[in-house]
Formats: sequence, structure tokens, C-alpha cells
Amino acid sequence: MSTASAYLNVRGIDIDVVYKDIKNLHIGVYPPLGRVRVAAPSRLDDDQVRLAVILRLPWIKRQREQLRSAPRQSEREMVTGESHYVWGIRRRLKVVERPGRAHIEPDGERLVLYVPAGTATEKRRECLDRWYREQVRHQLPALIAEWEDRLDVSVPKWTIRRMKTKWGSCNRESRHLSFNVELAKKHPDCLEYVVVHEITHYFERGHGSRFVELMDSHLPDWRSRKETLNNSPLAHAEWSRP
Ligand SMILES: [Zn+2]
Repeated sequence: MSTASAYLNVRGIDIDVVYKDIKNLHIGVYPPLGRVRVAAPSRLDDDQVRLAVILRLPWIKRQREQLRSAPRQSEREMVTGESHYVWGIRRRLKVVERPGRAHIEPDGERLVLYVPAGTATEKRRECLDRWYREQVRHQLPALIAEWEDRLDVSVPKWTIRRMKTKWGSCNRESRHLSFNVELAKKHPDCLEYVVVHEITHYFERGHGSRFVELMDSHLPDWRSRKETLNNSPLAHAEWSRP
């Protein structure tokens, strides 16, 4: 099966397109950020796909609205037995009440949250959030150093942020990179993909064919990493006519 892929921006929405030997056009809207992915029959070109997406924009926008108003995955009770993803692996939470500073410690398959008795849910969430942030902060320096070296560039500054619609971003003037704290929940290959993607913006602004070529040479398996990053669609629909 031959596949090609493209990034399109349709009225401000970034769309990932994969061309495949399929009959119908599929559009998926993926959590947590409302990423839009299109699987298109190989016979179509970028302009035809763009047009198909424009026709479905009301549907896409509705899905994205729903996604944003739905309770976030982090909006949980923070009690024993709940599962939370860490680097792509589902872990059970165990809450241990004891005096002292609230903190998280991994214990085998489990994630143990130590908190003083009576700690509010919101405080417990903040504790887990901080821990996720530390995980990303811990992984990034080695990854960035490796890719600075491999691509012969320097990254002057990077930050970890909570972003609603992006996994990462690159400011081409300051060369400042940002990474979404949610990446700590995904397989580590995904974090590396986002690092390479954002650094690749040093060479190319948009997501056009030159960007795709650069990604192919920098990280040949980037497509499958991206697939992993954006898996489990919120909504999926198929249309028999483009
Ligand atoms: Zn990009």
C-alpha cells in the first residue's frame, strides 16, 4: 500500500492528511487537543482534500467544541484505583495518607500519591501535574542535546507548558521551543517526535513538502510516532464522496 502524507491548514485548523489506497475519505478528531486527521483516497490531491475539509468544517468544529467542554482526563477524583498514563503505560494510583509534603512516587506498576489526610482533590491534582512536568523536564535535556548534535543546531531556550491545541511550538525568531506537559502521558517516542518536529521548524516554517522531506530525513519513522501520539479518536466519520 502506498502512503503519502501532508499537513494542511484550513481556516486556521491544522490538518494531518494521509493518502492511502482507500475508497472513502475519513475525518477523525482526536483528544486531548482536537487534532484533525484525514485519511484520503490516493486519487485526491491536496486541493480536493482541502475542499472536502471546508465542507465538513461545521462538523469538525462541533467535535472540537465538545472535546474542549468535556471534562479533561486530569479532572479526576485522585483516589486509589484510578488509572493514569505515564509515558504510554497505564498505572494505578494508590493514595497513602500521611503527614508531610504531598508527593508522587512510582512503585512498580503503581503510582503512589503521599498526601496529608484531608488534602483536597484539587491539591492532589496539582501534585500529579507537577510530577508530570518533572518527568518531561527530566527527559528533555538529553533529547534536545542529542538532536542539537545530530542536526547541528542550538536550542537556546525551551519550556514546558500546558497547551490546549498543540503538542509543541517553535518561535522561529527567538528559537524558543515549548512542549506540552501532556506529553508525559504518551510513549517516549512521541516526545522525541515533537522535539524533532519543533527543531525542524528552524529549517522550515510551515508543514509543506519541504518540511515533510526534512522530517523523513531527520526521523524516518516520524509518521508512526505521530500516529501513536494522536491515537484513539474522539469522533470519527466517513464520507463516500469527497
Ligand atoms: Zn509544526
